[in-house]
Amino acid sequence: MSKRELAATVLKNSGALALFESLRSKPGILIVNHHRVGDAASSRFDRDVFSASAEAFESQLRYFKRYFPIVAGDELEELVSGKTPLKRTYVAVTFDDGYINDYRVSFPILKANGCAGTFFLVPQYVGTSTIPWWDEIAYLVRNSPRTQLVFETPVPAAIRLDGNREDAIRNVLRHYKRPDNTDGERLLQELRDQAGCTLPETGRRFITWEEAREMKAAGMSIGSHTQTHGILGQMPPENQAWELTESRKNIEAGIGTPIRSLAYPVGIRGAFDEKTEDIAQSLGYTMCFSFYGGINTPDHMQPMNLLRMATNRDFLLFRAETVLLSRFGKLPY
Ligand SMILES: [Zn+2]
Repeated sequence: MSKRELAATVLKNSGALALFESLRSKPGILIVNHHRVGDAASSRFDRDVFSASAEAFESQLRYFKRYFPIVAGDELEELVSGKTPLKRTYVAVTFDDGYINDYRVSFPILKANGCAGTFFLVPQYVGTSTIPWWDEIAYLVRNSPRTQLVFETPVPAAIRLDGNREDAIRNVLRHYKRPDNTDGERLLQELRDQAGCTLPETGRRFITWEEAREMKAAGMSIGSHTQTHGILGQMPPENQAWELTESRKNIEAGIGTPIRSLAYPVGIRGAFDEKTEDIAQSLGYTMCFSFYGGINTPDHMQPMNLLRMATNRDFLLFRAETVLLSRFGKLPY
């Protein structure tokens, strides 16, 4: 049993979970992040970017609604800036990448529950059937007839394919996300050259500007996820600035309203750094989001590095983590 499962079991068995749920929440903003909501098992691409089924997502949303105000846009910005004092836990629900699932699955659920979400778009993907690097890696590694893949970029590595194929996908993705990988295209080419299979034809995979405008008009918030989804921490400062400026220009043209928020692609430490935060701030972004867990409290409120967490697929663990973060400000692991 893992530490997090143990924590949840203890909370449940002692009746503590229900007790803690009845307590007043502490001041903070709990920001959760999704990529795709829907059926992971039927995807031919990266299944790890599916964070919840449609049903699980709706259950999570209803649970949040019972205990916390759900915020986005100006309301969220005023809490982050301190203009509105934080007196309890607020929840923000965010989505990266702009997959078509956002429009077809998540948006109707948010709307039906009267909640606003924040969607971070990549202009280069909007309205297209693009297969981004993580989806391409997942498809090629899953379907390769080879028993091993060998890479030279950014450092030599051999990844075996004769065990669990989903583990192999994660290993190649981890190799791609290394902070010293400054040439993702070269690494992808090494994979294509040896995979022994090719990408399939697909229909449109990302939302259109028209869909984004409809979501915005219905109260959803839109932000930038950079122009090309490049990993900012792997780029020189001038390229980072271009990603932030170009994406904002294109999203503002596409939806017709100012953009002030940004989600760092990948979002883990190393995928962006203090230099990236300085660039974002100097360009006028007011809220930038990372993705390595945690809750934003008055003592730890960094507008250029707002912490986001993934929601647990297990509903009991999701409840336990939400209770611990909102009533105690941290997780015991
Ligand atoms: Zn992303």
